[in-house]
Amino acid sequence: MDLCNINQIKGLLSRHGFRFSKSMGQNFLIDPTVPRHIAAVSGAGPGYGVLEIGPGIGPLTEQLAQLADQVTAVELDQNLLPILQETMADYPNVSIVPGDILKLNLPQLVTDTFHGLTPIVCANLPYNITTPVLTVLLESGQFASITVMIQREVAKRICANPRTPDYGAFSLYCQYHAACELLFEVPPQAFLPAPKVTSAVIRLTPTTEPPVPVVDKQLFFRIVKASFAMRRKTLANGLASGFNGQLTKAEVTSLLQSCGFPPNIRGEQLSLSDFAQLTQAFNSALS
Ligand code: SAH
Repeated sequence: MDLCNINQIKGLLSRHGFRFSKSMGQNFLIDPTVPRHIAAVSGAGPGYGVLEIGPGIGPLTEQLAQLADQVTAVELDQNLLPILQETMADYPNVSIVPGDILKLNLPQLVTDTFHGLTPIVCANLPYNITTPVLTVLLESGQFASITVMIQREVAKRICANPRTPDYGAFSLYCQYHAACELLFEVPPQAFLPAPKVTSAVIRLTPTTEPPVPVVDKQLFFRIVKASFAMRRKTLANGLASGFNGQLTKAEVTSLLQSCGFPPNIRGEQLSLSDFAQLTQAFNSALS
């Protein structure tokens, strides 16, 4: 069966009495070139085990199964399980794991299903849980690469450079953990039902060390969060309120000055290495 043929999809779904769920972010791919393209850029091949999140009826799963040794696909919607059983019947290297990707033990899943293969992620994500999914994937430290389709707006934020409107705390979070690339865009017409937004495919390649040394990861992200919490305020004000009770505004201002940053600088002007330098200064001042 052609899993991107709209008539065949409609037939399959109605035979199973399937109804789309908005809350589960269900937009299925109906343009056959897209799953092929995503699977190709994911690097899936012999020696790789691919974790897919939300296979739907399996158009991307099928492409991945043709390239990689093993595909493990986690699907939350129970109603898709009998459909996947049918559509994936010819692929013995596909395992469907029922459940919520945010609640699974990822290291366990990798050990149980990938046996010595290099684990990577490839998925057309449910867009409503993009941030928590990318966070658990990056925190798990399990994957050599993470190639996902998400909302274009979020993709731009993840890959944004300092001094651009898309740059923020989540850009820094992702860029701290991985090299981030925006690969290509996908229009709404490629999906059933068509989403309201344009999509984009990104690839995150996790690094074992951040691009610049950071003295204290927790403190680094506390500073980043405080710096972007109030975007219209200056960095000194944001940090003074984030570290209220620990540092005075005057102390924060002098710390910024000691790093060579002008007093009216804003969070979005600082690069990852600037934040690393600031973390060093805060760390000395707080200890
Ligand atoms: N990959 C398919 C479907 C994408 S739609 C395609 O490209 O056509 C998103 C999919 O994620 C749906 O199948 C939805 O049921 C599933 N999903 C939603 N929330 C999930 C979660 N928390 N864990 C696992 N799968 C989830």
